[in-house]
Amino acid sequence: MKKKKNTAKEKKLEAANVYWGEHCVCGLRESATQAVPGNGDADAEILFIGEAPGKKEDLGGVPFIGSAGKFLGEMLASIHLKREDIFITNVVKYRPPENRDPSPEEKEACRQWLVDQVNSIDPVLIVTLGRHAMENFIPDKKISEVHGKMFCVTFPDLGTRTFYCLYHPAAALYNGGLREALKKDFKKIPRLLKKIQKEKK
Ligand code: URA
Repeated sequence: MKKKKNTAKEKKLEAANVYWGEHCVCGLRESATQAVPGNGDADAEILFIGEAPGKKEDLGGVPFIGSAGKFLGEMLASIHLKREDIFITNVVKYRPPENRDPSPEEKEACRQWLVDQVNSIDPVLIVTLGRHAMENFIPDKKISEVHGKMFCVTFPDLGTRTFYCLYHPAAALYNGGLREALKKDFKKIPRLLKKIQKEKK
């Protein structure tokens, strides 16, 4: 997959990031160094969504550049993908102080930014990383029950989207059981992608 320059999706995504970078009313703006909108290929088939930027991401302005990001990179490599082949962002675009969980208000304040990103990229598959990203789209479920499962959900502002829920790589780094489950779930991604594409034809 080669990166195409200046595609319609790229322009739409850039416009959304510029707009929300100026207009997002998330309370975390005050304590964060900068917004971390996301990075990767706007024309990607897969959109990964994590929770919120951590310290390194806050300083660098890029998501998943710490230890969880390194592990994610290894898992991407295991299915023959690079970071440039996917797009990756977070539910909340600003770092919560001391990496605490983002509040419902903070998630809500960043929601339209994420909705505009999803609609710009229009991915084949949305992979949620961890509980917060999952709950944003598939509420009232437990990550321990839904990891490794695919869901088709229709939203008024997003249309019908296909989600695949995974454990968060940061949680999996410190828990051998979760790590093995995450690696196993990750390996299913190429097959799922093919299945969705076949069904769409
Ligand atoms: N964890 C996340 O959920 N997002 C990041 O960007 C980094 C770590």
